[in-house]
Amino acid sequence: MAAMAACRIAHATVAAAAAAASSSSKPSCVVARPQFCGLRRVEVGCEFGALAQQLQSAGRGCRGVVSMAGTGKFFVGGNWKCNGTNESIEKLVEELNSAKLEEDVDVVVSPPYLYISKVIGSLTKRIEVAAQNSWTGKGGAYTGEISADQLVDAGVKWVIQGHSERRHVIGETNAMIGTKSAYALSKGLGVIACVGEKLEDREADRTTDVVFEQLQAYADAVSDWSNIVVAYEPVWAIGTGKVASPQQAQEVHAAIRQWLKEKISPEVSSKTRIIYGGSVNGANSAELATQEDIDGFLVGGAALKGPEFATICNAVTAKKVAA
Ligand code: PEP
Repeated sequence: MAAMAACRIAHATVAAAAAAASSSSKPSCVVARPQFCGLRRVEVGCEFGALAQQLQSAGRGCRGVVSMAGTGKFFVGGNWKCNGTNESIEKLVEELNSAKLEEDVDVVVSPPYLYISKVIGSLTKRIEVAAQNSWTGKGGAYTGEISADQLVDAGVKWVIQGHSERRHVIGETNAMIGTKSAYALSKGLGVIACVGEKLEDREADRTTDVVFEQLQAYADAVSDWSNIVVAYEPVWAIGTGKVASPQQAQEVHAAIRQWLKEKISPEVSSKTRIIYGGSVNGANSAELATQEDIDGFLVGGAALKGPEFATICNAVTAKKVAA
């Protein structure tokens, strides 16, 4: 049991079931790859397999985990975009405060700037707050902009950069997004770095060309990836109700992980969360979550409904399968 504790198998069901079994016999847990803990696929030695069998036959059930290619914790962000009023945001915060969220997931919500302080003051500390954008540098004579310094001052922990609406509606360039991201990181914010192709790019078979160009712009500007979550959001899937199939999403996520491995480092490739965004909802999130390179979600429309957003956060359980 000490070995089992040491390898920090996070799933409470496994831990509880194992603890229950320990009273009758004490098989030792030989974990071949202890670096894959928590929700990672734990490649177990035969002694642990025997434990699992024993638990099952005892009728207690032992849940394993499906494979996750990365080693980061599941991450779900809710992007409220330019939505909400004082009243609707109070209701949403109440719903989130009373939601039961799994432990194995980092949860972040991103209100419009105007409501950030109100949300930080009333939202459970279990959920962190992101801004939807920030300026390229320190503040000053930049009418309508908000600096990363101000976000930090307000208690914000994350900022979304490179969202397709900022790229394709507001006209932000790859280079500008890189600069904004680097400045935000330098101030201690985490960056949710969005990438994604338009429908015409996909149809012209240019999906990875576009995504890699966008990634390269981040790489040109930042030197430390430890506070970056990459959000793959195909533009054709955002706000359209047309979700990428799990296979389509997995294919691009795997390509992004490989790009990170080759262009940045194997360590960054393994540790960086690559989350999917584009019409994720309570009904499709579990199947998407089973894909091994999908480490969470960035959610728009469905993040405006507390119970549904909680369901999406808890899709992390789809990473766990009944043995
Ligand atoms: C988004 O805005 O990042 C997004 C993914 O929106 P939706 O979930 O509504 O498609």
